[in-house]
Amino acid sequence: MSSEQIQHSGASSIHIEGLSKEFETAEGTEQVFSDLNIEIEPGTFVCLLGKSGSGKSTMMDIVSGILDPTAGQVRFDSTDGSEETLGHVFQSPRLLPWNTCLQNIEYVHENNPDYTDDLAKRYLDLVGLSEHYNKFPTQLSGGQQQRVGIARALSTDPGVLLMDEPFSNLDEITADDLREELLDLWSRLGKTVFFVTHDMTEAIQLSDRILMLGQGEIYADLENPLDRPRELDSDEFLKFRQQAIETFHSIE
Ligand code: ADP
Ligand code: MG
Repeated sequence: MSSEQIQHSGASSIHIEGLSKEFETAEGTEQVFSDLNIEIEPGTFVCLLGKSGSGKSTMMDIVSGILDPTAGQVRFDSTDGSEETLGHVFQSPRLLPWNTCLQNIEYVHENNPDYTDDLAKRYLDLVGLSEHYNKFPTQLSGGQQQRVGIARALSTDPGVLLMDEPFSNLDEITADDLREELLDLWSRLGKTVFFVTHDMTEAIQLSDRILMLGQGEIYADLENPLDRPRELDSDEFLKFRQQAIETFHSIE
């Protein structure tokens, strides 16, 4: 089934204003980041890149509303004035093991009076799982499980899709396939994507814009100059990658 058969609303902008986060630990207060200000345009694909422990997931969890900031706020503006919904895809698929693919999608529609199994099926079709509606997570490969995670996130028709290292637990070939599929979905559904990664090649392959997080701040904000589709072994890809890596290493 094609995305044309799915009704979807527009993308939202993200406004991150004066955002700070501290954790109280046994060793004292740990400042993860302070006074971050980020504006993300509707429909853009933005990667947040940083080393392990730099605060990427903390940022994601605050943007998701899972975690409260110490200061500052996150706002969303939907282009069509609809109430904001967020889609989340995590590093592990976080499927309920006793539920089928279909039931895993149904689960996030508990409060949606318009939910029908057809809706879930349309999104499973979109990620290539038409043959697997009634399978349980253990009957699926890791890549298929993550596809269910993506279908579930998209099924609420969010203005923003938040993804925290969604492909880092997959083998390289599966991860490559899913990156291509995600780009295809993004170009067809037109969602704003905020995507966390520690992988420079992935960030350059996917994004319009790369935010580098480190030492508690956004120390680089790079527009991606590459046209799409992108060839990972092209001269321009490798050249931009090299520049971005130099910027990435300049933090320490
Ligand atoms: P990343 O996702 O970039 O690897 P995280 O956002 O998970 O980084 O963590 C950033 C920092 O915040 C780390 O030093 C981590 O130990 C700390 N941290 C994260 N969550 C908590 C928590 N609940 N309590 C205390 N410290 C935390
Ligand atoms: Mg993380």
